[in-house]
Amino acid sequence: MYKRVILKRGKEESVKRFHPWIFSGAIARADKMEEGDLVTVYTHDGALLGNGHFQIGSIAVRLLTFDDTEIDEQFYVKRLTAAYGLRKALGLMRDDNNAFRLVHGEGDFLPGLVIDIYGHTAVMQAHSPGMHFARNIIAQALTELPGNLVHNVYYKSETTLPYKAQLDPQNDYIVGSYDTDVAIENGLKFHVDWLKGQKTGFFVDQRENRRLLEHYAAGRRVLNMFCYTGGFSFYALRGGATLVHSVDSSAKAISLTNANVALNFPDCDRHKAVAEDAFKYLDEMHKGDYDLIVLDPPAFAKHKSALRNALIGYRKLNAKALEKIETGGILFTFSCSQAVNKEQFRLAVFSAAAQTRRKVRILHQLTQPADHPISIYHPEGEYLKGLVLYVE
Ligand code: SAH
Repeated sequence: MYKRVILKRGKEESVKRFHPWIFSGAIARADKMEEGDLVTVYTHDGALLGNGHFQIGSIAVRLLTFDDTEIDEQFYVKRLTAAYGLRKALGLMRDDNNAFRLVHGEGDFLPGLVIDIYGHTAVMQAHSPGMHFARNIIAQALTELPGNLVHNVYYKSETTLPYKAQLDPQNDYIVGSYDTDVAIENGLKFHVDWLKGQKTGFFVDQRENRRLLEHYAAGRRVLNMFCYTGGFSFYALRGGATLVHSVDSSAKAISLTNANVALNFPDCDRHKAVAEDAFKYLDEMHKGDYDLIVLDPPAFAKHKSALRNALIGYRKLNAKALEKIETGGILFTFSCSQAVNKEQFRLAVFSAAAQTRRKVRILHQLTQPADHPISIYHPEGEYLKGLVLYVE
């Protein structure tokens, strides 16, 4: 018997359409609850809606079930096995590819949980106190997945759990220990620094978009702006770019990029990495220096409140690149801000294009890959947006 949460009359509508979030304002009354408690949610008339994790904040409950299924180890084994089955069907577990997202929160019906796989290591992030408390049974369930996939589980939630919950999580191995930090994506190798790197150590969400860039790279001079660990750069090199310049404001990112290029292309003289601010670099470069540019900035809007400034930021950044790119150039431009939707991002890029008065056509409209699935009931899960533009 879990703690009870009773909704206000009429507030069950979104839950009936399988949306997993219950906002605090929708709750009529509840038992006394603590951060991370398992709760059962009822309509005002007492009909059971589902079980989930309680959390103090605007999203008060994240539902894990829409029936009375118990949230125990068996539950996690089932959900993780289903997540594994999808990645298997996607063909992501191969000799030349062992990096992918195994669990994408709501997209895998496990709100509050993110798990990326690098070889035999799972890097796990809890975004809710409930998932934090379940970390050990989740880690155990991971080791029971088919194919002997997971040997090590690294828990990395120091920066993802709500600060106010004061859970003080330690980043550490829950199962196993360090084996290797080299993973493979589409035949390219890279070091993953899950100990100190951003997110789980690598941005697996750009896998397919990097592959598309490889297709356009032959004979082009490429600028990979916001390169982080250099993902787009080594695809460009493999695709036959004549030169690749990787730029990031973080010196650590630049050394990671250099190490990854060396891992794939020892003695490569086509690549250079520069630690520099994006806006400064774009201001100082000359028109025509590059005929393929990637702009993959960090989320400019972390929250809805920052939306206006974020859209101005995207417009300014894209205008600089569109102004300087060589005639016949290709721009890959992205936004990973959840608060900015597809239309808003496209409008920001449209304004940037109009400002430069260049002829710009959309070649591709990109999104996140299939191992970052979006539950049709939870459209908020769509966060990565990209446009590939042909600029004359
Ligand atoms: N394209 C990368 C991911 C980019 S993450 C990939 O495929 O893996 C965003 C990166 O932008 C981070 O590495 C961060 O250090 C860098 N960054 C943030 N602000 C910046 C700025 N003003 N100028 C240049 N780089 C910046």
